[in-house]
Amino acid sequence: MGDAVAGGEARREELAANLAEVRKRIAAACAAAGRDAGEVTLVAVTKTFPASDVRLLAELGVTDVAENRDQEARPKAEDCAGLPLRWHFVGQLQTNKARSVAAYADVVQSVDRVRLVRALSDAATRAGRTLRCLIQVSLDEPEPGQGGRGPAAAGARGGADPADVPALADAIATADGLELDGVMAVAPLGGDPSVAFARLARIAADLRREHPGAAVISAGMSGDLEQAVACGATHVRVGTALLGGRRAIVR
Ligand SMILES: *Cc1c(COP(=O)(O)O)cnc(C)c1O
Repeated sequence: MGDAVAGGEARREELAANLAEVRKRIAAACAAAGRDAGEVTLVAVTKTFPASDVRLLAELGVTDVAENRDQEARPKAEDCAGLPLRWHFVGQLQTNKARSVAAYADVVQSVDRVRLVRALSDAATRAGRTLRCLIQVSLDEPEPGQGGRGPAAAGARGGADPADVPALADAIATADGLELDGVMAVAPLGGDPSVAFARLARIAADLRREHPGAAVISAGMSGDLEQAVACGATHVRVGTALLGGRRAIVR
């Protein structure tokens, strides 16, 4: 057996062990919340890791993968074409990348402005595809009446102001080529994720009153998936706990 094959086998075992551990955490969090583990979809965030890892995860039964940069995601998705995977885009998205993303993404979780809705609709229509969309909500600013201000630089991670969610939802729901699936958020740095995810759950409930089909709540990462599941997350996005630490990438 060559070293490359041996290396692949070791990586498979590592990913299998990590996956078992993450699935155990999700199951325990669901049990604690009185939820069925089948209600929560694990989305593996494969950014900075090679297509070979995506293949191994697919072989191990992972059905959903996520990437946050088009220039990295597109070749990886092409490399993995034919695998039974749903591709999620979870990064900040420039309108000029919409056509590229529409070629491989099944779900865009980071829709945060009407201009992007228009670009994605145009791109999906040209590509003859349907893109499922989540509205990324920024939870960085405190709720009105809660006082204080969030960490100054937090807005850099993107996301719509909660007050803009209804208008964005209507824009997505009426756009050709797009389907409104729900909401996504990242817990603010340094805050209590339970507070943030409870707020997201209220925003999601308000959204479902107008758009009953928009039932997805994408929340929770390696460090806070338990709190997200407790607050009703239907999708958790896990990178580090599955694949290991990422090397810093220069942007
Ligand atoms: C990287 C990333 C994740 C995964 O984070 P981990 O802490 O590595 O699990 C989840 N969501 C988004 C939007 C990300 O960019």
